[in-house]
Amino acid sequence: MRYYIWTIGCQMNVADSHRVASSLEKLGYQEASRIEDADVVVLNTCAVRQSAEDKAYGRLMSLKPLKQKRPNMVINMMGCVVGLKGHDRLRQRFPFVDVFSPPSDPGPLLSYLAQREHKALEEAETARRFALQDGELVLPRSLRGKLVSEHVPVVLGCSHACTYCVIPYRRGPERSRPPELILAEVRSLAAQGVKEITLLGQIVDRYGKDLPDTNLAQLLRQVHEIEGIERIRFLTSHPLWMTDELLETVAALPKVMPHIEVPVQAGDDEVLANMRRGYTADDYRRLVAKIREIIPDVAIATDVIVGFPGETEAQFQRTYDLLEELRLDVVHLARYSERPGTLAARKLADDVPEEEKMRRFRLIEALQEGISAEINSRYLGERVPVLFEEKVKGRWRGRTPTNKLVFVDSDQDLRGHIEDVLITWTGPWSLLGRLASEMARPGL
Ligand code: SF4
Repeated sequence: MRYYIWTIGCQMNVADSHRVASSLEKLGYQEASRIEDADVVVLNTCAVRQSAEDKAYGRLMSLKPLKQKRPNMVINMMGCVVGLKGHDRLRQRFPFVDVFSPPSDPGPLLSYLAQREHKALEEAETARRFALQDGELVLPRSLRGKLVSEHVPVVLGCSHACTYCVIPYRRGPERSRPPELILAEVRSLAAQGVKEITLLGQIVDRYGKDLPDTNLAQLLRQVHEIEGIERIRFLTSHPLWMTDELLETVAALPKVMPHIEVPVQAGDDEVLANMRRGYTADDYRRLVAKIREIIPDVAIATDVIVGFPGETEAQFQRTYDLLEELRLDVVHLARYSERPGTLAARKLADDVPEEEKMRRFRLIEALQEGISAEINSRYLGERVPVLFEEKVKGRWRGRTPTNKLVFVDSDQDLRGHIEDVLITWTGPWSLLGRLASEMARPGL
Protein backbone atom coordinates (compact mmCIF):
# COMPACT_ATOMS: atom_id res chain seq x y z
CA MET A 1 0.00 0.00 0.00
CA ARG A 2 1.38 3.38 -0.95
CA TYR A 3 0.77 6.99 -0.01
CA TYR A 4 1.40 10.36 -1.64
CA ILE A 5 1.38 13.71 0.18
CA TRP A 6 1.01 17.07 -1.55
CA THR A 7 1.85 20.05 0.65
CA ILE A 8 1.43 23.77 0.17
CA GLY A 9 2.01 26.63 2.62
CA CYS A 10 4.16 27.33 5.63
CA GLN A 11 6.81 25.31 7.50
CA MET A 12 4.13 24.21 9.95
CA ASN A 13 2.39 22.40 7.08
CA VAL A 14 5.66 20.82 5.93
CA ALA A 15 6.29 19.58 9.50
CA ASP A 16 2.68 18.31 9.71
CA SER A 17 3.12 16.40 6.45
CA HIS A 18 6.28 14.72 7.77
CA ARG A 19 4.21 13.59 10.77
CA VAL A 20 1.45 12.22 8.53
CA ALA A 21 4.05 10.32 6.48
CA SER A 22 5.65 8.99 9.64
CA SER A 23 2.24 7.80 10.96
CA LEU A 24 1.35 6.14 7.66
CA GLU A 25 4.68 4.34 7.53
CA LYS A 26 4.05 3.05 11.06
CA LEU A 27 0.88 1.50 9.65
CA GLY A 28 2.94 -0.18 6.92
CA TYR A 29 2.41 2.26 4.01
CA GLN A 30 5.25 3.21 1.68
CA GLU A 31 5.74 6.46 -0.19
CA ALA A 32 4.66 6.50 -3.87
CA SER A 33 6.71 8.60 -6.27
CA ARG A 34 3.62 9.43 -8.40
CA ILE A 35 0.19 10.44 -7.22
CA GLU A 36 -1.35 8.00 -9.77
CA ASP A 37 0.24 5.04 -7.97
CA ALA A 38 -0.94 5.94 -4.47
CA ASP A 39 -3.63 4.17 -2.45
CA VAL A 40 -3.84 7.11 -0.06
CA VAL A 41 -3.49 10.71 -1.23
CA VAL A 42 -3.16 13.51 1.32
CA LEU A 43 -3.56 17.14 0.24
CA ASN A 44 -2.22 19.34 3.02
CA THR A 45 -3.68 22.75 2.28
CA CYS A 46 -3.08 26.42 3.13
CA ALA A 47 -5.67 29.18 3.47
CA VAL A 48 -3.50 32.15 4.29
CA ARG A 49 -4.12 33.69 0.86
CA GLN A 50 -6.95 33.11 -1.59
CA SER A 51 -4.43 32.02 -4.24
CA ALA A 52 -3.14 29.20 -1.98
CA GLU A 53 -6.69 28.05 -1.28
CA ASP A 54 -7.52 28.11 -5.02
CA LYS A 55 -4.41 26.02 -5.73
CA ALA A 56 -5.62 23.39 -3.25
CA TYR A 57 -9.08 23.27 -4.90
CA GLY A 58 -7.45 22.98 -8.34
CA ARG A 59 -5.28 20.10 -7.16
CA LEU A 60 -8.26 18.41 -5.55
CA MET A 61 -10.37 18.66 -8.73
CA SER A 62 -7.51 17.13 -10.72
CA LEU A 63 -7.89 14.02 -8.51
CA LYS A 64 -11.56 13.51 -9.37
CA PRO A 65 -10.99 11.48 -12.59
CA LEU A 66 -8.39 9.37 -10.77
CA LYS A 67 -10.86 8.61 -8.01
CA GLN A 68 -13.49 7.68 -10.60
CA LYS A 69 -11.05 5.24 -12.17
CA ARG A 70 -9.87 3.86 -8.81
CA PRO A 71 -12.73 4.25 -6.30
CA ASN A 72 -10.71 2.48 -3.59
CA MET A 73 -8.14 5.24 -3.53
CA VAL A 74 -8.48 7.23 -0.28
CA ILE A 75 -8.42 11.02 -0.63
CA ASN A 76 -7.67 12.99 2.53
CA MET A 77 -7.95 16.76 2.57
CA MET A 78 -6.09 18.27 5.49
CA GLY A 79 -4.92 21.62 6.82
CA CYS A 80 -6.11 25.19 6.99
CA VAL A 81 -8.67 24.97 4.15
CA VAL A 82 -10.42 22.27 6.19
CA GLY A 83 -10.13 24.09 9.52
CA LEU A 84 -11.21 22.70 12.85
CA LYS A 85 -14.90 22.05 12.45
CA GLY A 86 -17.90 22.03 10.17
CA HIS A 87 -16.72 20.27 7.01
CA ASP A 88 -20.27 20.03 5.58
CA ARG A 89 -19.70 22.75 3.00
CA LEU A 90 -16.53 21.03 1.77
CA ARG A 91 -18.23 17.61 1.85
CA GLN A 92 -20.99 18.90 -0.42
CA ARG A 93 -18.56 20.58 -2.76
CA PHE A 94 -16.11 17.66 -2.95
CA PRO A 95 -18.12 14.47 -2.34
CA PHE A 96 -15.26 12.34 -3.68
CA VAL A 97 -13.06 13.27 -0.67
CA ASP A 98 -13.11 10.38 1.82
CA VAL A 99 -11.79 12.10 4.91
CA PHE A 100 -11.19 15.64 6.14
CA SER A 101 -8.51 16.39 8.76
CA PRO A 102 -7.90 19.61 10.69
CA PRO A 103 -4.40 21.15 10.63
CA SER A 104 -1.67 19.23 12.50
CA ASP A 105 -3.95 16.23 13.06
CA PRO A 106 -3.40 12.97 11.17
CA GLY A 107 -5.96 11.36 13.53
CA PRO A 108 -9.06 11.32 11.29
CA LEU A 109 -7.10 9.72 8.43
CA LEU A 110 -5.58 7.05 10.68
CA SER A 111 -8.95 6.22 12.24
CA TYR A 112 -10.53 6.04 8.78
CA LEU A 113 -7.83 3.69 7.46
CA ALA A 114 -7.95 1.47 10.53
CA GLN A 115 -11.74 1.18 10.33
CA ARG A 116 -11.64 0.55 6.59
CA GLU A 117 -9.30 -2.32 7.20
CA HIS A 118 -11.94 -3.67 9.62
CA LYS A 119 -9.78 -3.11 12.63
CA ALA A 120 -11.59 -2.67 15.90
CA LEU A 121 -12.63 0.84 16.84
CA GLU A 122 -10.42 0.64 19.88
CA GLU A 123 -7.42 -0.10 17.69
CA ALA A 124 -8.32 2.83 15.44
CA GLU A 125 -8.42 5.09 18.46
CA THR A 126 -5.03 3.78 19.61
CA ALA A 127 -3.57 4.51 16.16
CA ARG A 128 -4.99 8.01 16.36
CA ARG A 129 -3.60 8.70 19.81
CA PHE A 130 -0.30 7.13 18.82
CA ALA A 131 0.04 9.64 15.99
CA LEU A 132 -0.75 12.60 18.21
CA GLN A 133 1.14 11.70 21.37
CA ASP A 134 4.08 9.63 20.26
CA GLY A 135 7.24 11.50 21.14
CA GLU A 136 9.19 8.89 19.16
CA LEU A 137 9.04 10.68 15.83
CA VAL A 138 10.34 8.31 13.16
CA LEU A 139 11.05 10.23 9.99
CA PRO A 140 9.53 8.94 6.76
CA ARG A 141 11.91 6.52 5.01
CA SER A 142 12.67 9.01 2.19
CA LEU A 143 14.05 11.50 4.74
CA ARG A 144 15.76 9.17 7.19
CA GLY A 145 19.50 9.84 7.35
CA LYS A 146 19.08 12.64 4.78
CA LEU A 147 17.23 15.35 6.64
CA VAL A 148 19.63 17.79 8.29
CA SER A 149 17.17 20.43 9.44
CA GLU A 150 13.66 19.79 10.76
CA HIS A 151 10.84 21.96 12.09
CA VAL A 152 9.11 20.96 15.31
CA PRO A 153 5.75 22.58 16.15
CA VAL A 154 5.71 23.73 19.77
CA VAL A 155 2.68 26.05 19.80
CA LEU A 156 -0.40 25.07 17.80
CA GLY A 157 -3.08 27.60 16.78
CA CYS A 158 -3.21 31.29 17.63
CA SER A 159 -5.46 33.41 19.84
CA HIS A 160 -4.22 36.83 18.80
CA ALA A 161 -6.72 37.39 15.97
CA CYS A 162 -5.01 40.05 13.85
CA THR A 163 -7.86 41.45 11.81
CA TYR A 164 -6.56 40.19 8.44
CA CYS A 165 -5.62 36.68 9.52
CA VAL A 166 -7.59 33.51 9.01
CA ILE A 167 -5.28 31.27 11.02
CA PRO A 168 -7.06 31.52 14.41
CA TYR A 169 -10.29 30.43 12.65
CA ARG A 170 -8.61 27.50 10.92
CA ARG A 171 -5.99 26.33 13.42
CA GLY A 172 -7.96 27.16 16.53
CA PRO A 173 -6.89 28.76 19.81
CA GLU A 174 -3.31 28.72 21.01
CA ARG A 175 -2.12 25.48 22.65
CA SER A 176 1.47 24.79 23.76
CA ARG A 177 2.65 21.22 23.37
CA PRO A 178 4.05 19.68 26.57
CA PRO A 179 7.82 20.11 26.81
CA GLU A 180 8.44 16.39 27.44
CA LEU A 181 6.75 15.54 24.09
CA ILE A 182 8.79 18.14 22.22
CA LEU A 183 12.04 17.02 23.84
CA ALA A 184 11.31 13.36 23.07
CA GLU A 185 10.69 14.30 19.43
CA VAL A 186 13.90 16.32 19.22
CA ARG A 187 15.86 13.45 20.79
CA SER A 188 14.49 10.97 18.28
CA LEU A 189 15.22 13.39 15.41
CA ALA A 190 18.80 13.80 16.68
CA ALA A 191 19.18 10.01 16.74
CA GLN A 192 18.11 9.95 13.08
CA GLY A 193 20.81 12.40 12.02
CA VAL A 194 18.97 15.73 12.24
CA LYS A 195 21.41 18.49 13.22
CA GLU A 196 19.24 21.58 13.25
CA ILE A 197 15.87 22.10 14.92
CA THR A 198 13.53 25.02 14.32
CA LEU A 199 10.84 25.36 16.98
CA LEU A 200 7.63 26.53 15.36
CA GLY A 201 4.61 28.49 16.49
CA GLN A 202 2.35 31.19 15.06
CA ILE A 203 3.51 33.20 18.09
CA VAL A 204 6.39 31.04 19.22
CA ASP A 205 7.51 33.44 21.94
CA ARG A 206 4.20 32.80 23.73
CA TYR A 207 5.24 29.18 24.22
CA GLY A 208 4.25 27.94 27.68
CA LYS A 209 1.73 30.69 28.52
CA ASP A 210 -0.86 27.93 29.01
CA LEU A 211 1.48 25.52 30.82
CA PRO A 212 2.90 25.60 34.34
CA ASP A 213 6.55 26.57 34.85
CA THR A 214 7.88 26.80 31.33
CA ASN A 215 8.48 29.30 28.56
CA LEU A 216 10.40 29.48 25.29
CA ALA A 217 13.69 30.43 26.99
CA GLN A 218 13.38 27.40 29.26
CA LEU A 219 12.53 25.14 26.30
CA LEU A 220 15.55 26.46 24.37
CA ARG A 221 17.78 25.60 27.33
CA GLN A 222 16.37 22.06 27.42
CA VAL A 223 16.72 21.50 23.66
CA HIS A 224 20.25 22.88 23.91
CA GLU A 225 21.16 19.94 26.18
CA ILE A 226 20.28 17.35 23.54
CA GLU A 227 23.31 15.64 22.11
CA GLY A 228 23.58 15.62 18.33
CA ILE A 229 21.60 18.83 17.83
CA GLU A 230 24.07 21.46 16.67
CA ARG A 231 21.83 24.39 15.81
CA ILE A 232 18.51 25.67 17.14
CA ARG A 233 16.21 28.34 15.71
CA PHE A 234 12.65 29.40 16.48
CA LEU A 235 9.93 31.22 14.56
CA THR A 236 7.72 33.22 14.31
CA SER A 237 7.95 35.67 17.19
CA HIS A 238 5.48 38.46 17.95
CA PRO A 239 6.98 41.83 19.01
CA LEU A 240 4.74 41.95 22.10
CA TRP A 241 6.15 38.77 23.62
CA MET A 242 9.91 39.04 23.04
CA THR A 243 11.22 39.17 26.60
CA ASP A 244 14.70 40.15 27.75
CA GLU A 245 15.02 36.65 29.20
CA LEU A 246 14.41 35.15 25.76
CA LEU A 247 16.90 37.44 24.01
CA GLU A 248 19.52 36.89 26.70
CA THR A 249 19.02 33.13 26.40
CA VAL A 250 19.60 33.32 22.63
CA ALA A 251 22.76 35.32 23.26
CA ALA A 252 24.01 32.94 25.96
CA LEU A 253 23.40 29.56 24.31
CA PRO A 254 25.96 28.80 21.58
CA LYS A 255 23.70 26.36 19.71
CA VAL A 256 20.84 28.89 19.44
CA MET A 257 21.47 30.84 16.24
CA PRO A 258 21.56 34.65 16.14
CA HIS A 259 18.52 34.78 13.89
CA ILE A 260 15.18 36.32 14.88
CA GLU A 261 11.99 36.33 12.78
CA VAL A 262 9.72 39.06 14.12
CA PRO A 263 7.06 40.50 11.80
CA VAL A 264 6.31 44.23 11.81
CA GLN A 265 3.56 44.04 9.12
CA ALA A 266 3.32 47.86 8.72
CA GLY A 267 5.18 51.01 9.70
CA ASP A 268 2.15 53.23 10.29
CA ASP A 269 0.47 53.30 13.69
CA GLU A 270 -3.08 53.63 12.37
CA VAL A 271 -2.60 50.68 10.01
CA LEU A 272 -1.04 48.68 12.87
CA ALA A 273 -4.04 49.50 15.06
CA ASN A 274 -6.44 48.50 12.25
CA MET A 275 -4.52 45.25 11.93
CA ARG A 276 -4.83 44.86 15.72
CA ARG A 277 -1.17 44.06 16.11
CA GLY A 278 -0.84 45.57 19.57
CA TYR A 279 2.28 47.76 19.11
CA THR A 280 3.37 50.96 17.39
CA ALA A 281 6.17 51.57 14.88
CA ASP A 282 8.23 53.11 17.69
CA ASP A 283 7.73 50.02 19.86
CA TYR A 284 9.10 47.97 16.98
CA ARG A 285 12.06 50.36 16.54
CA ARG A 286 12.91 49.97 20.24
CA LEU A 287 12.59 46.17 19.99
CA VAL A 288 14.98 45.99 17.03
CA ALA A 289 17.49 48.16 18.90
CA LYS A 290 17.21 45.90 21.93
CA ILE A 291 17.61 42.69 19.89
CA ARG A 292 20.71 44.15 18.26
CA GLU A 293 22.12 45.24 21.61
CA ILE A 294 21.61 41.88 23.34
CA ILE A 295 22.48 39.49 20.49
CA PRO A 296 25.70 40.42 18.71
CA ASP A 297 25.71 40.09 14.88
CA VAL A 298 22.07 39.07 14.85
CA ALA A 299 20.07 38.72 11.64
CA ILE A 300 16.49 39.96 11.80
CA ALA A 301 13.76 38.96 9.36
CA THR A 302 10.34 40.55 9.22
CA ASP A 303 6.98 40.23 7.45
CA VAL A 304 5.17 43.10 5.75
CA ILE A 305 1.71 43.37 4.21
CA VAL A 306 1.14 46.13 1.64
CA GLY A 307 -2.28 47.38 0.55
CA PHE A 308 -4.12 46.72 3.82
CA PRO A 309 -7.66 48.22 3.67
CA GLY A 310 -7.50 52.00 3.80
CA GLU A 311 -3.69 52.16 3.53
CA THR A 312 -2.94 55.58 2.05
CA GLU A 313 0.14 56.53 0.10
CA ALA A 314 1.49 58.37 3.16
CA GLN A 315 0.90 55.35 5.40
CA PHE A 316 2.63 53.07 2.93
CA GLN A 317 5.51 55.53 2.81
CA ARG A 318 5.92 55.17 6.58
CA THR A 319 6.34 51.40 6.17
CA TYR A 320 8.87 52.00 3.41
CA ASP A 321 10.76 54.55 5.54
CA LEU A 322 10.80 52.25 8.57
CA LEU A 323 12.34 49.43 6.56
CA GLU A 324 14.86 51.81 5.02
CA GLU A 325 15.79 53.02 8.49
CA LEU A 326 15.97 49.63 10.26
CA ARG A 327 17.80 47.79 7.43
CA LEU A 328 16.66 44.30 8.38
CA ASP A 329 18.16 41.21 6.78
CA VAL A 330 15.03 39.78 5.16
CA VAL A 331 11.50 41.02 4.44
CA HIS A 332 8.81 38.45 3.66
CA LEU A 333 6.41 40.56 1.61
CA ALA A 334 2.72 39.99 0.92
CA ARG A 335 -0.05 41.91 -0.78
CA TYR A 336 -3.20 42.09 1.36
CA SER A 337 -5.62 39.31 0.44
CA GLU A 338 -9.11 39.43 1.93
CA ARG A 339 -9.90 36.24 3.85
CA PRO A 340 -13.57 35.42 4.44
CA GLY A 341 -14.64 35.44 8.08
CA THR A 342 -11.87 37.73 9.33
CA LEU A 343 -12.67 41.02 11.03
CA ALA A 344 -11.01 42.96 8.19
CA ALA A 345 -13.18 41.18 5.60
CA ARG A 346 -16.32 41.94 7.61
CA LYS A 347 -15.57 45.54 8.57
CA LEU A 348 -13.00 47.02 6.19
CA ALA A 349 -13.29 47.53 2.43
CA ASP A 350 -10.47 45.99 0.39
CA ASP A 351 -10.06 49.36 -1.30
CA VAL A 352 -6.45 49.49 -2.46
CA PRO A 353 -6.54 48.50 -6.16
CA GLU A 354 -4.53 45.41 -7.15
CA GLU A 355 -2.18 47.40 -9.39
CA GLU A 356 -1.46 49.80 -6.53
CA LYS A 357 -0.78 46.86 -4.16
CA MET A 358 1.62 45.51 -6.77
CA ARG A 359 3.34 48.90 -7.16
CA ARG A 360 3.89 49.13 -3.38
CA PHE A 361 5.07 45.51 -3.31
CA ARG A 362 7.64 46.21 -6.03
CA LEU A 363 8.90 49.36 -4.31
CA ILE A 364 9.64 47.51 -1.08
CA GLU A 365 11.02 44.53 -2.99
CA ALA A 366 13.53 46.82 -4.74
CA LEU A 367 14.41 48.61 -1.49
CA GLN A 368 15.01 45.33 0.32
CA GLU A 369 17.05 43.88 -2.53
CA GLY A 370 19.50 46.75 -2.05
CA ILE A 371 19.53 46.41 1.76
CA SER A 372 20.03 42.62 1.67
CA ALA A 373 22.78 42.98 -0.92
CA GLU A 374 24.53 45.55 1.26
CA ILE A 375 24.24 43.42 4.43
CA ASN A 376 25.42 40.30 2.61
CA SER A 377 28.38 42.13 1.04
CA ARG A 378 29.88 42.40 4.55
CA TYR A 379 30.47 38.64 4.40
CA LEU A 380 32.87 38.97 1.46
CA GLY A 381 36.28 37.58 2.44
CA GLU A 382 34.95 36.36 5.81
CA ARG A 383 35.18 32.80 7.14
CA VAL A 384 31.80 31.55 8.34
CA PRO A 385 30.65 28.19 9.75
CA VAL A 386 28.08 26.70 7.38
CA LEU A 387 25.80 23.75 8.11
CA PHE A 388 25.36 21.89 4.82
CA GLU A 389 21.96 20.39 3.99
CA GLU A 390 21.98 18.99 0.46
CA LYS A 391 23.47 19.11 -3.00
CA VAL A 392 21.39 21.15 -5.43
CA LYS A 393 22.29 21.16 -9.15
CA GLY A 394 25.81 19.97 -8.38
CA ARG A 395 26.49 22.48 -5.58
CA TRP A 396 26.33 22.00 -1.83
CA ARG A 397 23.79 24.23 -0.13
CA GLY A 398 24.03 25.29 3.50
CA ARG A 399 23.30 28.12 5.89
CA THR A 400 25.30 30.47 8.07
CA PRO A 401 24.30 30.98 11.72
CA THR A 402 22.42 34.07 10.52
CA ASN A 403 20.45 31.88 8.05
CA LYS A 404 22.15 33.16 4.88
CA LEU A 405 22.14 30.65 2.04
CA VAL A 406 25.63 29.58 0.97
CA PHE A 407 26.60 27.51 -2.09
CA VAL A 408 29.91 25.68 -2.36
CA ASP A 409 31.50 23.36 -4.95
CA SER A 410 32.95 20.23 -3.40
CA ASP A 411 33.24 16.52 -4.15
CA GLN A 412 33.09 15.68 -0.44
CA ASP A 413 29.90 14.50 1.23
CA LEU A 414 29.07 17.58 3.28
CA ARG A 415 25.53 16.67 4.30
CA GLY A 416 25.04 17.41 8.00
CA HIS A 417 28.56 18.82 8.46
CA ILE A 418 29.44 22.26 9.76
CA GLU A 419 32.42 23.55 7.78
CA ASP A 420 34.23 26.87 7.68
CA VAL A 421 33.65 28.58 4.35
CA LEU A 422 35.53 31.52 2.88
CA ILE A 423 32.95 33.74 1.19
CA THR A 424 34.03 34.68 -2.34
CA TRP A 425 30.86 36.26 -3.77
CA THR A 426 27.74 37.81 -2.30
CA GLY A 427 24.33 38.75 -3.68
CA PRO A 428 21.02 39.79 -2.11
CA TRP A 429 19.66 36.24 -1.82
CA SER A 430 22.74 34.03 -1.41
CA LEU A 431 26.50 33.77 -0.98
CA LEU A 432 29.15 31.67 -2.73
CA GLY A 433 32.28 30.35 -1.10
CA ARG A 434 35.04 27.78 -0.87
CA LEU A 435 35.62 25.27 1.90
CA ALA A 436 38.44 26.54 4.10
CA SER A 437 39.68 22.95 4.51
CA GLU A 438 40.03 22.49 0.75
CA MET A 439 41.78 25.82 0.28
CA ALA A 440 44.38 24.78 2.81
CA ARG A 441 45.20 21.63 0.85
CA PRO A 442 48.29 21.97 -1.37
CA GLY A 443 47.54 22.07 -5.07
CA LEU A 444 44.05 23.52 -4.72
S1 SF4 B 1 -0.30 36.57 15.34
FE1 SF4 B 1 -1.77 37.47 13.94
S2 SF4 B 1 -0.88 37.02 11.90
FE2 SF4 B 1 0.11 35.63 13.34
S3 SF4 B 1 -1.15 33.76 13.23
FE3 SF4 B 1 -1.91 34.99 14.97
S4 SF4 B 1 -3.58 36.16 14.08
FE4 SF4 B 1 -2.38 35.39 12.36
